[in-house]
Amino acid sequence: MRDSVDREGSSCDLRRCAGARSVREPAAHLRGLVPYDPKYIPAEVMVSANENPDDVFESLRTDIMRAIRRVALNRYPDPLANGLRDLIAEANGLDRDQVLIGNGGDELLFDTALAWGGPGRVFLNLPPTFSVYENNALLTGTSVVEVPRRADFRVDEEAVIARLSRGDIDFTIVTSPNNPTGDAVSESFVRRVLEASDALVVVDEAYFEFSRKTVRPLLENYENLVILRTFSKAFSLAGVRVGYLLGSERVLSEYKKVRQPYSVDAISQVVASTVYENRSKFVFGIERIVSERERMYEQLEKMDGIEAFPSESNFILLRMEEASDAWRELLARGVLVRDFSRTRYLEGCLRVSVGTPQENDRFLQTLADIPASRRAR
Ligand code: PMP
Repeated sequence: MRDSVDREGSSCDLRRCAGARSVREPAAHLRGLVPYDPKYIPAEVMVSANENPDDVFESLRTDIMRAIRRVALNRYPDPLANGLRDLIAEANGLDRDQVLIGNGGDELLFDTALAWGGPGRVFLNLPPTFSVYENNALLTGTSVVEVPRRADFRVDEEAVIARLSRGDIDFTIVTSPNNPTGDAVSESFVRRVLEASDALVVVDEAYFEFSRKTVRPLLENYENLVILRTFSKAFSLAGVRVGYLLGSERVLSEYKKVRQPYSVDAISQVVASTVYENRSKFVFGIERIVSERERMYEQLEKMDGIEAFPSESNFILLRMEEASDAWRELLARGVLVRDFSRTRYLEGCLRVSVGTPQENDRFLQTLADIPASRRAR
C-alpha cells in the first residue's frame, strides 16, 4: 500500500523511506523508562482498572447529549473551565481560584512534578503506590526519595515525618485511599505531614468517595496542602478525562504556569459539569460498591491461600502463591484483574476492582475454582 506521494508525483512506501535516515537518540532520561501500560485486555468481566462498573445512567446521558449539542465546536474551550470550577468551588465552600481542572487527575499529577519538581528538586514517594508519581519524577529530572510502606502496606508514619523533617523534600504525595493497597490515612497524620516541613503535600483523594474521608477541612490552615480528585471513579467518567485540584490560590497560580492551556476540551467540560450538578444521584451506586467491597472481602478472607488486604476504596489487593498463573487462569475464564505480581513491593499481588454484584460473583467463583493446590501456600 502507498503511504505517501512526493511532489514529483513518484510515490514512496513510508515504512521503507523511514529507514533512509535514522534519528538521533531521545533525551537521556528516557533510557530505561517504559510507557505506561494499563494491560487493558478485552474480557467479559473488566475488573482491572478501578472504573465504575456502571456507566452514567440513561436520563443523565440524555441531559449530557443535550448539553453537548449546544457546544461551539469551532471555538477554543474556556482554558480554565470556569463553569465547572465554580460548581466545584461552591460545593466545597471555596473560591474559584482555589480550584483547578485538569485532563484527568493524571495531567494534574504531571503538572505537580513540573511545578514542584525538576532538576535539583526532591520528591518523597511512599511505595507501593500509584506508579505514575515516580514516572513523572523521572520525566522531569526530579530526584526520588522513598519511605516504603510497612509489611501490612500501611504508611510508616514515623519514618515519613522523620524524613520530611530533614527539610530537603520539595513535594510528596499521600494517596488516601492508596492505589493499589486500599488503605486510607488519618487526618491527624496528614496534619503532622503538613507541619513537618514546608514541602508541597498533595493528598490524592481519587477514591475518597468510597472511604468517605477527606482532608478538605485542613485547607483552611495549610497553604502547603493540595487535594487531588477525579471524575473517573465514583462519577463513571474515566473515558472523559476530568480531574481537579483544591488548594490555595497561591499554589494553584503556580500550576497555571505549567499546565497546557486547552487541556480540558469543551465537551469534557460540559459532560463533567452536567454530572457534577447531578452528583447526588451517584450516591446509591457508590453505596452499592462499598457494600459489595465488604462482601467480596469477607469471601476472599475465607479462601485458603489468599491474603486479602482491607480496603476503603473500590478495589481489593490480594496476595497468593503463583499469582501470575492465577491472573492468566482468570483471564482465560473471562475475568481481567490487574497483575502486580512482578512489581516491586507487590510481589505475589493481584488487584481486583469492585464490579457489579454479578461480576463480583463471577470473579469470586472463578478464583475459587482455580485448584486449591495452586492457591495453597
Ligand atoms: N490517582 C490515583 C491514586 C489513581 O489510581 C488514578 C487512576 N488510576 C489517578 C490518580 C488518575 O485518575 P484520572 O487520570 O483518571 O483522573
